[in-house]
Amino acid sequence: MTTPVFNHRDTGRSEADWLASPGWQQVRPIRLSAGVGTRGLVVIAAHPDDETLGAGGAIALAHAAGIPVQVLMATDGEASHPESPTRSRRELAQLREVEVRRALSLLAPGCEVRHLRLPDGQLADHESELQDALGKWVAELDVGCVLLAPWREDGHPDHAAAGRVAARVAREYGAALGEYPIWAWHWARDEDVPWSQLRSLPLDDATLLIKQAALAEHHSQVNPLSSQPGDETLLGPEMLEHFDRPFEGFIDVSGRWDESIFERLHSAAVDPWSVRSSAYERRKRKQTLDALPTGRFERAFEPGCSIGELTAALADRCDELLAVDLSATAVRAARARTAALPTVSIEQHAVPDWWPAGDFDLIVLSEICYFLDVQGLRQLLLETRSSLRSGGHVLLCDWRHPIDGWALDAARVHRAAHEILRLPTHFTLSTDDMMLEVLGPAPVDGGAV
Ligand SMILES: [Zn+2]
Repeated sequence: MTTPVFNHRDTGRSEADWLASPGWQQVRPIRLSAGVGTRGLVVIAAHPDDETLGAGGAIALAHAAGIPVQVLMATDGEASHPESPTRSRRELAQLREVEVRRALSLLAPGCEVRHLRLPDGQLADHESELQDALGKWVAELDVGCVLLAPWREDGHPDHAAAGRVAARVAREYGAALGEYPIWAWHWARDEDVPWSQLRSLPLDDATLLIKQAALAEHHSQVNPLSSQPGDETLLGPEMLEHFDRPFEGFIDVSGRWDESIFERLHSAAVDPWSVRSSAYERRKRKQTLDALPTGRFERAFEPGCSIGELTAALADRCDELLAVDLSATAVRAARARTAALPTVSIEQHAVPDWWPAGDFDLIVLSEICYFLDVQGLRQLLLETRSSLRSGGHVLLCDWRHPIDGWALDAARVHRAAHEILRLPTHFTLSTDDMMLEVLGPAPVDGGAV
């Protein structure tokens, strides 16, 4: 076993000294929000208490935001007091399991916890077991996973092992990874901190109180086990001060936490929805084009264009077509796909917060609306209404099956579109898989469905 780079009995760096560091000026704040970006939070802890110390606030915020939380406990922490005259390793393991369950019941009641019971102090010899267990959870959430793990450079060999495993798993599935320092706040100096990769997650007063209450549940670590030598407190008041901050620090080496889920999807796969290869998508594209009123459109807008496959198909029918996507990778692909089509322009923007100037006689909302929250959908439909020319058309196409992690579905989207746009139905098609509607006036020749 490798020994830690620090001794917890040494006097560590004070919290006041940390907070005075100029490094914080370059630390960007981050958020955890349900839906776009985060479908689930997976927290890996080397020992019971790591999760609360390093990520207790994140766990509580995720739970409050409706983000499902899963906690993987690598060891039972049975080696915390190797010279204890009053507690055996087995007793310590049992005690710490109870403590972490109580702490998590405060942070995220009902969250999923799994104890792997790998040997405390020897995680580096069990990385493959840890990787298998973690991989199963992260694979289910895929790019919608935010994974939190001890920092690889935290100076404790078990933390380093857990961090290495987390980094491998995050890379494999395109998940975001935030590494939380614990012991580094005790031993590190400014030059040990990768400030440009450090992000801060602000904790409001209520969240901080929950975190402090959860920390107090780790009795065996924040209090002496007894008054006898070998039973001393592990996490003394100076160490605990680092975890009373109104924020938590996470090192985001790959910079993915700030990325939208759409950027993660497009970076992980060239064609994340198989719009080029799938027969279903090809058929849907044809149905979409057939649903449009005959004739040409002067100026069309397609938000959420992904890699530009529908854009290229629409281009034939439009004198001018503007398509946008919030993923930089998608925009590059869409530009390449439409490079030979001079009437098409592709820009990187996030609707509905951004909306183009001018008006349109066609707005195509294909497979984007249900990715928004209720407020975002309302805003998008209001923008659509105000930028639609008189006599213009809006096309809506949405996957009908429920999608994990999203609040909206096709039925709600189409209902809201009718309520807000108040346009006649020009065309409608509903299959087991999708709802396709074109809203706007029927053609003069009466050919509407
Ligand atoms: Zn630990």
